[in-house]
Amino acid sequence: MTASKIRRLPSFVVERIAAGEVIDRPASVVKELVENALDAHARSITLRLLRGGKQAIEVIDDGDGMSGGDLVLSLERHATSKLEGDDVFSVRTLGFRGEALASIGAVASLQIDTRREKSDHGWSISMDYGVCDDIKPCSTAKGTRVLVESLFGKVPARKAFLRSDGAEKAAVIELVRRLALTRTDVTFRLEDEKRKVLNFEAPDPTLEGGSDEDRLQKRIAQVLGTEFTENSVTVSAEREGFRVWGKVSLPTYHRANGMAQHVIVNGRVLRDRFLLGAVRGGYADLLASGRFPVVVLFVAIDPDAVDVNVHPTKNEVRFRDPSHVRGLIVSALRDTLRGHLGTSTTLSERLSTAFSQAPMARGSFSSSRHTPAAPHPRRTSISSQGIGSKALRDSLAPPSVPIPETTKTNDAQVGEDAQAISLAPEADPTTQMTAQPVIDAEFSDKPLGRAVGQVHSNYVISESKEGLYIIDQHAAHERLVYESLLRSIKDNKVERQILLVPEVVSLDADAIDRLLEHKEMLAQFGLVFEAFGPGAITISEVPSLLRKARFSELMRDLADEVQAQGSADLLEKRVNEVASRMACHRALRSGRLLKHEEMNVLLREIESHPESSQCNHGRPSYVFLGLDEIEKLFGRR
Ligand code: ADP
Ligand code: MG
Repeated sequence: MTASKIRRLPSFVVERIAAGEVIDRPASVVKELVENALDAHARSITLRLLRGGKQAIEVIDDGDGMSGGDLVLSLERHATSKLEGDDVFSVRTLGFRGEALASIGAVASLQIDTRREKSDHGWSISMDYGVCDDIKPCSTAKGTRVLVESLFGKVPARKAFLRSDGAEKAAVIELVRRLALTRTDVTFRLEDEKRKVLNFEAPDPTLEGGSDEDRLQKRIAQVLGTEFTENSVTVSAEREGFRVWGKVSLPTYHRANGMAQHVIVNGRVLRDRFLLGAVRGGYADLLASGRFPVVVLFVAIDPDAVDVNVHPTKNEVRFRDPSHVRGLIVSALRDTLRGHLGTSTTLSERLSTAFSQAPMARGSFSSSRHTPAAPHPRRTSISSQGIGSKALRDSLAPPSVPIPETTKTNDAQVGEDAQAISLAPEADPTTQMTAQPVIDAEFSDKPLGRAVGQVHSNYVISESKEGLYIIDQHAAHERLVYESLLRSIKDNKVERQILLVPEVVSLDADAIDRLLEHKEMLAQFGLVFEAFGPGAITISEVPSLLRKARFSELMRDLADEVQAQGSADLLEKRVNEVASRMACHRALRSGRLLKHEEMNVLLREIESHPESSQCNHGRPSYVFLGLDEIEKLFGRR
């Protein structure tokens, strides 16, 4: 008889295997702890990280806290306060599996201090890699503080998979941003060893500005920036008890990757392929390929119609009726976005205010530039109309027209001229416009029509069949130069520079391996390097755009990045940044007087590159005023 081959695993091994399903890096610890705090009705959550969370993660909340008895139970696997009855299929809290704290305690050193509001003291417990201590009374504020130290300290196989401190921290930041979008009524703070990294204050509910909509606006601006709020539109749709709402970017405002797409289902942030696919469907043929919209989309659905218990990390869900969900998301996005490609009422409203105020301002005309009511092309949300619409895009000429080169002009001269025009008290603001009522056949089929003239040495006015355009020459041209720089990268015509003396950069072996894995892809960007002994690389060629970069920093970030995202997005971002700066220097300046032919070349160039309807900074580079709107302004309609 042979000895039995099967043996029961020791319980600490079982624990660690189970833990691996939930906890794989600092960000997943943070996710579980923040979800617990939210389930405990916290109004404010403060997080601290040491070494990206590898050394320590601290989460402090002001929620319900736990009694001593519950504290002991909280560390037991499959112990939860969140399932009433046994129905795991209609869950209303974020947690419910009762395994996060047990898992964390199995692979780290864990300490929890907690106090319920009515108790005169709190309780503290600790667990060290699966070994639990007795609970002790302690003094602590109402709520719960969880400290997780030395994650995977005794689990080397898992520790080896952790990334650099910076990359782990970046993942936590990204996660906290996402979580902060789900709960606009909760304050989120994140600190590292040096500074406050994030501070998303929730407005005081007793004060004004506390409506759901106000709070959402404020939080979105905090998390995604005001540039996004200025370039986004509100989506809202409902069908059969299923609701979709949020803010989505205009097709002219996009990113190089999909990281800024946030879909929140019943308060749960997800990285769900199915849902992101539906978002893509909503933007189909409105967005250049390889570009991604910025989206904050909330989905509210009957909890019985969605299964959140698909995966231990709860990052994915399963819908009972997926095609219904997809259909509503796609049509909500599509209808909203198409609606905004049409004529804008905002501009005509602004214009009617501006025009009706103009006579009063006439006495002090020289300062009219500063009149707040003046129609300013920035901040309107209609940049993409006309030329962005598919019908017009289809009729566009191929991109063959050269970008007008800055011709020799005496800038000082031009500057004075421009001043003279705008300051002359009697001057008509349309001084330089020459009226020509008929559009020549040559221009009649051009979306941007015929250049009529230039005002204030920066705005080109053009007349099309449908109305008139005001084009910001600097913004438009800057975008054109920028895109042509990026195209050269994409078409593999990147200008590169061979370094006379190869640059040696020392890196850890791990980072070098990762970079070498992506060597070919990086070479496409013009970055050529070789391994150089065990702890260094030599760089022999660099993209000219980046010749002034600090290479040790660049290569280290790239090594992190290729692991974090499996691509060199970071390089692309850097290239984009540099391209953008160069474009600004190369572009037509505002203040330069343009000849008629030059204006028309600019118009044709913009037409063949629809993306130039928005400048690199997300502002529109031209605006359109329809003939019908003009007629409305004069009371003819
Ligand atoms: P789950 O969240 O799935 O129930 P956890 O292991 O994350 O499982 O937590 C176990 C239990 O501990 C929870 O059900 C809850 O009762 C309690 N708990 C955990 N964190 C907190 C907290 N921050 N505040 C109050 N109670 C908490
Ligand atoms: Mg939990």
